[in-house]
This record gives sequence, structure tokens and C-alpha cells, in this order.
Amino acid sequence: MNAAPADQLRLLDLADLDAQVAQTEQARRNPPQAGRVKELLEERQAQNRVLGERQGVVDDLKAELGRIEADVLVVDARQRRDTALLQTVSNPKDAAGLEHELASLVRRRSDLEDAQLEVMERLEEAEAEVAQQEALLATIGEEGARLSAEAKAVVADATERIARLERDRAAVSGSIPTDLVGMYERLRTRSAGAALLRARTCGGCHMVLSGTDLGTLRQTPPEAVATCPECGCILVRTSESGL
Ligand SMILES: [Zn+2]
Repeated sequence: MNAAPADQLRLLDLADLDAQVAQTEQARRNPPQAGRVKELLEERQAQNRVLGERQGVVDDLKAELGRIEADVLVVDARQRRDTALLQTVSNPKDAAGLEHELASLVRRRSDLEDAQLEVMERLEEAEAEVAQQEALLATIGEEGARLSAEAKAVVADATERIARLERDRAAVSGSIPTDLVGMYERLRTRSAGAALLRARTCGGCHMVLSGTDLGTLRQTPPEAVATCPECGCILVRTSESGL
């Protein structure tokens, strides 16, 4: 195919715009925050499980405390009943029995109060651990929300940028003969499409061309469209090509 060297040169602008579109697409699909956001989601799941476990400990301790408190009420009621009975019994044997039971109720009550205190302390610690875990989850949530918002902004910027690049691309593409653009598009599916030959090196595949290939290129007229023998893209020749 033949094309004016100026049109061939314009292919480089087209290739540059296409490279920018591809790069920006990549940024849009995978904003830099995406990895950390994913990590935070996993972290939140794991820490939520820990929170569930800690809340379970709190619930168990509250249930235990409830049982102890119920036992205390039972002991209270027996103490009141026995004390009242003691006023009425005349039989010394019955009185001794009641006194014995009252003494054991006092011990029982004291044991229950010790247990109550111990469980309350453990409950306080467990509740502090829940609060700590909730604070950690809040921190994770805040970072996640901030990064998600940043990622959204990156995606919006990239989308805008791609629209701008596509407009520029349409203008450049429109200024190049259709058959040359067609050739570029075909080659672009498996190579850079078009690249500058600079210092005997193809800008598409970065291979230094062999002496034989360079010899062939030297004999190719400037208006004949040449392709890279290595990668197949259109080789745009300028004074920098080293021919
Ligand atoms: Zn090449």
C-alpha cells in the first residue's frame, strides 16, 4: 500500500491515542484503590466474625448473671421465710434446724455474691472487648468508604478522559486516508498497529532490525507503507530511523 509519509506519520498520533485509551481503560477497570478495598472487605468479614464471638461471650455472661440473680432471690425468700418461722417455733429442735439452715443460707448468699462480682467483672471486660472490636470495624468501614469514594472519582475521571481521547482519536483518524486507517486497525489486533522506527529499532516490538531488513527498508520508497518484519506493525520512517 502507498500513503503519503505525512499520513503515515499521523498514524503515530493515532497509535499514541489508542495506547492512552488502553491505559486509561485499565485504570478505569482497576483503580489503584481496588486492591485495598477488596482487602478491607475481607478484613471486615473476618473482624465481624470476631465481633460475633465477642458478643456471644457477653450474652453468655449476661445469662449467667441472670441465673445468679435468680438464685439470690430464691435465697432471699428462704431467709425471710426462715426468719419469720423462727419467731413462731417453740420447739428448740425446730429452732436449731432453722438456725442451721439460716447459717447455710448466709454462706450460700455470700458465695452467690462472690460469683456475681466475678461474673460482673468478666462481663465488663467482655463488653470492653466488644466496644474495641466495634471501634476497629468502624475504622475499617471509614477507610473502605473513603477509598471507595476515591476509586469512584478515579473511574469518573478515567471515563471523562476516555471520552476526550475518543474525540481526539476520531479527529485524527478522520484526517488519515481510510485505507491506511483500515490497515492500521487490522494490524492493531495483533501488534502496536503502527510505530516509529527509531535508531533501527521498531517502537512496537522494540527489536533492533537486522542489516538485511534495514537494507530492504532503505530501498523501500517513502510513500510505500512498510511493516516490521518482527511484529508486523506499520513502520513509520523519519530522519530518526537510522536508515
Ligand atoms: Zn516490531
